Amino acid sequence: MSIKVGKVIYSGKAKDVYETEHSDQVVVKFRDDITAGDGEKKDCLHQKGYYNSIISSKLFKVLEEKGIKTQYIELLEPGEMLSHKLKMIPLEVITRNIAAGSLLKKFPFKDKQVFDNPIIQMDYKNDEYHDPMLNDDISMALNLATKEELDEIREITHKINAILKDFLASKGIKLVDFKIEFGYDNDGNIVLGDEISPDTCRYWDIKTFDVLDKDLFRQGECGIMDAYKKVASMILDEEELQKFEI
Ligand code: UDP
Repeated sequence: MSIKVGKVIYSGKAKDVYETEHSDQVVVKFRDDITAGDGEKKDCLHQKGYYNSIISSKLFKVLEEKGIKTQYIELLEPGEMLSHKLKMIPLEVITRNIAAGSLLKKFPFKDKQVFDNPIIQMDYKNDEYHDPMLNDDISMALNLATKEELDEIREITHKINAILKDFLASKGIKLVDFKIEFGYDNDGNIVLGDEISPDTCRYWDIKTFDVLDKDLFRQGECGIMDAYKKVASMILDEEELQKFEI
């Protein structure tokens, strides 16, 4: 599909959002920039945008097939995703199946502790305040969302977790935790937006427990792009692997 891309309407840490000739559609361009530690650690990793866009597209498609509304329309080419325009809600909705990362610094959980009931945590997406953890009363007082909307977000997130956990497990990947973001479409529906990639999830190889995500960057290890490429090679079908030359 040929799409005329206009000006940038939002620029984040790893993606830019461009307007298009259709007022209700945007093109999300995945950049190679990577940051961690509240933006303190920065780098640029060749082809990260390529792999993150392919992985996100695949997972959005898997979710759409199971009835989850997402902003995904089409991957125009690797790195460029045509999407429905959303009014984003400044919440980072984090789901945890296994204890890892910042949770271990904040609470006395055991490393790799498995949660029978997945934990959903919402952080305020606000760099100035360093993305603090919210509770419903604070979210409502900040007018981020109503109680009903927060409940709906949790309900959709549990469904997304169940679908992604099953799909990734069938491909040999353990979904440890992940962060997603939601927005409102033109009709006021709450829709999944942003990305679902190794930048925003913890993925472990089920057999070897190898880390296949941004933790490699956080920990200063090498082979980050090999890990992202491995995720793509594990989750894509034959046709997709050929199309993207993976
Ligand atoms: N995460 C993210 N963006 C953020 C914070 C967290 O994508 O700004 C993801 C992160 O990659 C992990 C999950 O959310 O998959 C839980 O992150 P955690 O709270 O453990 O924070 P971290 O250890 O990444 O600082």
